[in-house]
Amino acid sequence: MKWLIILGLILLLIAVVAWHFRKHIQSAWFIYQTFRKMRQMRPPAEKPLEPKAKSGDTELVRCPKCGKWTPKDDAVKLKSDFFCSLACLEETMAFNRRQ
Ligand SMILES: [Zn+2]
Repeated sequence: MKWLIILGLILLLIAVVAWHFRKHIQSAWFIYQTFRKMRQMRPPAEKPLEPKAKSGDTELVRCPKCGKWTPKDDAVKLKSDFFCSLACLEETMAFNRRQ
């Protein structure tokens, strides 16, 4: 029972102190949140950019619709054909449907 009273008194003391310094605690919390947001907004630590594959030997594919050469990684694939863009792919599909 004695410990319960002591614990209650300690909690009461904490509550009184917290109430007394509520403005300080509020502004400290606000500053903490602001710093956290700032850290999140900052781009991740300078990571050396990994070279995307070896830029020298990018395979090019020819769009069967418009004849434009496109890097294979950027091309839109349909079965065995590579299109330069989704627009070309859609046009080709629409054209095939009409036939
Ligand atoms: Zn195309």
